[in-house]
Amino acid sequence: MEHKPEKRICQNCKKDFTIESEDFNFYEKIKVPPPTFCPECRLIRRLVWRNVRSLYKRNCGLCNKSLISMYPDKDEAPVYCSDCWYGDKWDQFINGKEYDFSKPFFEQLKELFKINPRFYSYKFGRLINSEFTNFSTDNKNAYLSYSVIGSEDVLYSENINKSKNSVDCFSVNKIDGCYFNIECESNYNTDFAVISNNCIDSYFIYDCLNCQNCCLSSNLRNQKYIFKNEKISKENYEKAVAALRLDTYSGRKDAENYFSDLIANKTIHKYAFIYNAQNVSGDYIYNARNIKKSFILGESENIAYSFRVLDRVRDSYDLLGIGFDCELIYESMAATSNTYKDFFCYITIQGSRECEYSLILKNCSNCFGCVGLTNAKYCILNRQYSEKEYFGMVEKIKKHMMEMPYIDKKERVYKYGEFFPYDMSPFGYNETVANDFFLISKEIISANGYNWKDPKERNYNITKDSTKLPDAIKEVSEDILDEIISCPNHGNPIVQCTTAFKITPAELQFYKQKNLPLPRYCPNCRHYKRLSFMNSPIFYNRTCMCKNTTHNHQGKCTTEFETSYAPEREEIIYCEECYNKEIY
Ligand SMILES: [Zn+2]
Ligand SMILES: [Zn+2]
Ligand SMILES: [Zn+2]
Ligand SMILES: [Zn+2]
Ligand SMILES: [Zn+2]
Repeated sequence: MEHKPEKRICQNCKKDFTIESEDFNFYEKIKVPPPTFCPECRLIRRLVWRNVRSLYKRNCGLCNKSLISMYPDKDEAPVYCSDCWYGDKWDQFINGKEYDFSKPFFEQLKELFKINPRFYSYKFGRLINSEFTNFSTDNKNAYLSYSVIGSEDVLYSENINKSKNSVDCFSVNKIDGCYFNIECESNYNTDFAVISNNCIDSYFIYDCLNCQNCCLSSNLRNQKYIFKNEKISKENYEKAVAALRLDTYSGRKDAENYFSDLIANKTIHKYAFIYNAQNVSGDYIYNARNIKKSFILGESENIAYSFRVLDRVRDSYDLLGIGFDCELIYESMAATSNTYKDFFCYITIQGSRECEYSLILKNCSNCFGCVGLTNAKYCILNRQYSEKEYFGMVEKIKKHMMEMPYIDKKERVYKYGEFFPYDMSPFGYNETVANDFFLISKEIISANGYNWKDPKERNYNITKDSTKLPDAIKEVSEDILDEIISCPNHGNPIVQCTTAFKITPAELQFYKQKNLPLPRYCPNCRHYKRLSFMNSPIFYNRTCMCKNTTHNHQGKCTTEFETSYAPEREEIIYCEECYNKEIY
């Protein structure tokens, strides 16, 4: 039966949202009721579970080994190290409980999650010298980097795939020898590059493809020796770049100011950064097809309302941090490696199949409301059932969830078909990726009934004021490695400022080799600066701003599109056709 699109009112923000015909088809196919929260509020509900940057020193609950954990030290649930987690010193069913039909399901799951042991962090595969990472798989020498996969010598970066020898990057794929690259792919030795691919030896470039030796320029294709968007001789180019003094903090500040003005006022922005893709809406999408309202996604198909998806994910809705051969996933966070038909889950990895409302599972199938299981089957609230009992019970529980839903303090109702309630997350809103893309004040966080985390007490013995650091890298000696440097943001909790920072030997070597001055802000403040070059996953209907009389349109172009550039923003935004006429 063909469904007509329907308008609903979101339980959280009270605004209306539309459930499209194809959305109804998807919900019917996987037998879940349609959502009662809008796509944005659903995304935030998943994002409050994605704490990648806030790490805590804790001890393993079994062997007492010291760990860097993503779970707060004050949490009741113990965290276990890798050896203990997969070892035989504990019984993973120890907290198993019979389902209680006198209490809402989420209350029972919350209780289990609150006490059950957890795997200490999200770290899998071969990790060499990469202790200070999270959401980290198969890395070598990664440091204070998060959501990093198959990379080497990567420092202070986030959302990094298959990259090498790079510092201070965000959302990059296959880059090498790069500094401050944002949403880039296959760059080599680029410094300050934003939405630029296949570029070499370039500085301060925005929306450039296949360029070499370009500086302070935007909207370039297949160019060499371009300075401030003008073609000049190799000799003059080298002189102009040298005159910028990019080896000094003051020189870079001037370059950054020029660059900001260039992006805001002299660059044509395509309505979205989408390439090599068909039938796609959203932003930062490559090598994909049939994608709706998604953000930071590559190599996947038939996906809607998702954020950070990579490498062969198919036929799924409402994803967050999903990758590597996953299919039919709905409302889940961090499902990877051959996960199939998992709904409403948090961290289900390596062959997880048909699990619902479960957290931290490895290679489990048909588990409902379980926490921290490996190789388990037919379990509910960590209790073992026979195959036949299991399916009968799940049916009854789903019905019970409809009849006795969980209602949170803000009167939001959670029946079967909703992701975990906001108040179940063990993290503060302000320490998760929610804060990175939907930055709101402490007051609004509390008013919405999201968790708030007060900043950690930090009493560093600061030995160096960051404003007193040498301007040029050549004036920096090895002594800097002993200094504790103050961050000018003084611990501002909204950007997770750590108040102070140190320079590591690997980092100093990188700056010396690349002729880059020392940074003056802590790694978290630098992360938020990079985010200022990205849009947020909120989509607006807008019209092309092109007035070029040589194009096919008469007067102003009337093409409409969905864009993550908010209507009040001043950048020049074009539709695909007008953009292609001007840029290629
Ligand atoms: Zn909403
Ligand atoms: Zn242990
Ligand atoms: Zn800071
Ligand atoms: Zn147009
Ligand atoms: Zn036009």
